[in-house]
Amino acid sequence: MSTRNHAFTEPAKKHLGQHFLHERGIINKIVQAVDPQPGDRLVEIGPGQGAITFPLLDRHGELTVIEFDRDLIFPLTEAARAHGTLEVIHRDVLAVDFTALTGGEGQIRLVGNLPYNLSSPILFHALEHAAAIRDMHFMLQKEVVDRMAAGPGSKVYGRLGVMLQAYCHVTALFDVPPGAFRPPPKVDSAVVRLVPRAPGTIGIVDADKFAAVVRDAFGQRRKTLRNALSKLCDGAAIEAAGIRPDARAEQIEVTDFVRLANHLAASS
Ligand code: SAM
Repeated sequence: MSTRNHAFTEPAKKHLGQHFLHERGIINKIVQAVDPQPGDRLVEIGPGQGAITFPLLDRHGELTVIEFDRDLIFPLTEAARAHGTLEVIHRDVLAVDFTALTGGEGQIRLVGNLPYNLSSPILFHALEHAAAIRDMHFMLQKEVVDRMAAGPGSKVYGRLGVMLQAYCHVTALFDVPPGAFRPPPKVDSAVVRLVPRAPGTIGIVDADKFAAVVRDAFGQRRKTLRNALSKLCDGAAIEAAGIRPDARAEQIEVTDFVRLANHLAASS
């Protein structure tokens, strides 16, 4: 079934990061990656003109969407009637309480071709509600997905990757060229899957301390940990956590950052 509808007459709005997907093959790959199962509670961020929304509805029958652009709400609601039951939340996604969307039980599954100017805030907002989220499938800038999935030794391994991987399993799924969108973005895109780890599995004792260690360690990534972390601890504390103080942040595993932060939390 076509995802285009004559009711969508508005031009794409740059300030809302609107790049509408039109490549059928890519849309199918996203729906296959999500693979909705009976009983799943799917929530799409930024449905736009419904490129992913309607195929998901055709497959699953019901869906909640969060869209900020008021000009899209009416055409979306109208066009959705032919596909299934659509609940539309007209709000800034950063103001949406994902935990409340579970209605107090179970978890939601998030999907979205995200507005790229808001990708990091949306990711960190989702992490705050990680216990309410079973998984996330997001289209983002490829460069951001590369950073999210990178490990030690990679040039793009940094704060974003460590913070996300501490709370989620991160898998880069496939790349998407600019021509798959109207209008085409200036950069390549990629689809990523994030699956929040079960609470407590990685053992972060103090989330603020962990975030501070990762922030300072990568704040000056060419410095040794001893120097980069000098505001938080001395070399002896780093050594006591089983890490070489003369190592640099880009060489340190996520689990090592957790151990160091836990050691500092226990001794402060
Ligand atoms: N899902 C559609 C597609 O794939 O064609 C549209 C994707 S477009 C890249 C991003 C969508 O997010 C747009 O519909 C835009 O209006 C919406 N959006 C932008 N900022 C938002 C916000 N703060 N909260 C909710 N939706 C937002």
